[in-house]
Amino acid sequence: MGLSFFNTLSRSVQEFKPLDASSKKVGMYCCGPTVYDFAHIGNWRTFVFGDLVRRYLTFRGYDVNHVMNITDVEDKIIRRVRETKTTLREFTGQYETAFFDDMKALGCHLPNVTPRATEYIADIITLIEKLIARGIAYKANDGSVYFSIEKYRGCGCLYGQLQKLNFDEMRVGERVASDEYEKESLADFALWKAYVPDDGEVTWDSPWGKGRPGWHIECSAMSMKVLGESFDLHLGGEDLKFPHHEDEIAQSEGATGKPFVKYWLHGAFLLVEGKKMSKSLGNFFTLRDLLAKGFTGREVRYLLLSAHYRGTFNFTLDGLTGARTALARIDECVGKLRAFGPAAATAPQSEVVTRFTTALDDDLNISAAWAAIFDWVTETNKRLADGSFTVAAAATTLAIWEQINSVLGIGAATETEAPAEIVALLEARQAARKAKDFKRSDEIRDELKAKGWVVEDSPKGPKLKKL
Ligand SMILES: [Zn+2]
Repeated sequence: MGLSFFNTLSRSVQEFKPLDASSKKVGMYCCGPTVYDFAHIGNWRTFVFGDLVRRYLTFRGYDVNHVMNITDVEDKIIRRVRETKTTLREFTGQYETAFFDDMKALGCHLPNVTPRATEYIADIITLIEKLIARGIAYKANDGSVYFSIEKYRGCGCLYGQLQKLNFDEMRVGERVASDEYEKESLADFALWKAYVPDDGEVTWDSPWGKGRPGWHIECSAMSMKVLGESFDLHLGGEDLKFPHHEDEIAQSEGATGKPFVKYWLHGAFLLVEGKKMSKSLGNFFTLRDLLAKGFTGREVRYLLLSAHYRGTFNFTLDGLTGARTALARIDECVGKLRAFGPAAATAPQSEVVTRFTTALDDDLNISAAWAAIFDWVTETNKRLADGSFTVAAAATTLAIWEQINSVLGIGAATETEAPAEIVALLEARQAARKAKDFKRSDEIRDELKAKGWVVEDSPKGPKLKKL
């Protein structure tokens, strides 16, 4: 079997075959953040997992369209907007910016498309209209529009594709207005929520009156708008299987009559210091909390990538210290190779890449992939110690590492020699900053950016990095 994933739909490991067999194009949707607070380390496990899947598919030659939505309107957000007396955009904007900053700090590639729910209201309304036209959704007395599970099942559709559900417990006519509910409260769920005064300014006009969308319909509308009615991969944390993903399938397949997603991949939970993360236990960490403790995004990424995505993972501060040691081992080895000169343009066939690929093809068996990498580090160190490397051999070995690192994204930033013109600009920026001429220093920063360089300020002074 070639590349395969555990598909929650079939509860089995299946070979990955994209819907469009004639091309290498793959559509992948990951449920993104609800921007009402900083994402915590449990959320980051899922997002780093998504980044790994995307990078690995790219490594295997696929052209991935990675879509991640931004949930910028839902129950929790509206509550916080009310409490903080801000506007919706002001409130969500700050957390959206923080989210992308954190993503970069963790070495994640930014998704190709990041649709915001509030910019897809028209598509959401069209989708709800389709469901009403097909008799699967209805407007209730409270003015909201609900999805009828009974009608959906009556069309021969299956509700409960990801999760086994007990319909005997479901009482006909019962409805749930909240976005989050347990499977014991199985009921018709809200697609469009009628306006209530607590919503404040957060409201849109619709054929059913003023209101706002439910959380689940947002993802159906955005994913299908960007990727089409059927697409290859849908990812998320296992906590989203029910009701969120189940409802996404029902809404999408109910509206189109077509299979929604071919492969559903779910990342498992994360414990912190052996316990479920909670603010009262003091084991609740955002990425910012960990950076403030002196760890780096790279170390956090390494630790999150050290275990298989389907196993519950115990995240600890000791683990982060271990990550630092492991990365130092890799850095030392790669640093010595770099001392010979730059990497070769192409990597030759190598045992480590074969082992690495075989491991990750097997439902992303990352432990076996790391074992191959550390064997390679040991072997390379031996060759470095006995002085058997030529410049050409070091260049190809470095190219092998870069091939592997294109998937892992944990390699140390390479310090590239900047041309004199760029160095002069950096010096001018420093001078402007010293003179507190921040307007000028920002202009120079933009100029550098336009020339393909970024300045990173560090305690040791500014550093130039190639974009
Ligand atoms: Zn979603």
